[in-house]
Amino acid sequence: MENIAIIGAGTMGHSIALSAAWSGLSVKIYGVDVRDVEKASKGFEVKLHLMTDNELISKEQEKEITERVAFTVSLEEAVKEAEFIIEAVPENMVLKHQIYRQLEELVATDIIIASNSSGLMPTALAEEMKHPERFVLTHFWNPAHLIPLVEIVGGEKTDEQTLQQTKALIEQMNKQAVLLKKELPGFIGNRLQFALFREAQALLDAGVASKEDIDAAVTYSIGRRLPVTGPLQTADLGGLDIFYAISDYLFEDLSTDRKPGRTLSALAGNGELGAKTGSGFYDW
Ligand code: NAD
Repeated sequence: MENIAIIGAGTMGHSIALSAAWSGLSVKIYGVDVRDVEKASKGFEVKLHLMTDNELISKEQEKEITERVAFTVSLEEAVKEAEFIIEAVPENMVLKHQIYRQLEELVATDIIIASNSSGLMPTALAEEMKHPERFVLTHFWNPAHLIPLVEIVGGEKTDEQTLQQTKALIEQMNKQAVLLKKELPGFIGNRLQFALFREAQALLDAGVASKEDIDAAVTYSIGRRLPVTGPLQTADLGGLDIFYAISDYLFEDLSTDRKPGRTLSALAGNGELGAKTGSGFYDW
């Protein structure tokens, strides 16, 4: 594959574009308006410079990557030559349906339309599509140009060819593809990540430790076990008798709160959305 389009130029959109261009693909990226595109283009540049400064890429590669990426506010222009489309608009089912409707009007039926949704079910996302067989989930992680994992998830109507072509593209992008056998909300990675996040919220809200110490407990322990860092690998390394015993007494004691925690609710409700607004759990 040579040409892809990315719909949505935000946090994920422009870092997926960077990842794709780094692997040699030409990328067109769609943003809603000039401001959106300017912000994305700036973010792209900053990330690219950081890669050069940290010697991940050479000056020559930096130039080549820049030349492979074009930003546009025209959806038609974005997808004109695309062989594969990745949607990265906000996590809103109605908006995503609307985008797929527009895309299906613009591209041939054999062009795969993928979503970068964090955890929405592909069957529901493709519900209103004329050709749901070409729809798939490609869940990149933030920042997409640096984090290797991409989860690939098909819906009830996704065909095998779509899954295999998607896997081939993700591997062409030098990413670690993980293909799920069935869909479920949050896929694998976010179910694991949010189990940890849920407990971190419970610890914070219960006043067990400061936010810094809760983060440190992960950063300086399980977060450091690279490259053997998966929870099942970690369990093997620790001894399954031990992990069995711990699971046996601990699982029933974990937070069973099914709602976002008190602190998170207050911050999100107050528009304190983390790094992107300058404050969240921390000030940025
Ligand atoms: P974001 O808010 O940073 O960017 C969204 C982009 O969508 C905007 O820049 C804009 O270009 C576009 N957009 C907004 N409204 C639109 C509209 N009405 N029509 C068309 N385009 C519109 O969001 P993000 O963090 O990049 O998330 C995008 C997707 O990726 C979501 O589905 C999210 O769940 C998923 N995701 C996010 C992360 C993360 O850590 N941020 C990680 C993995 C997956």
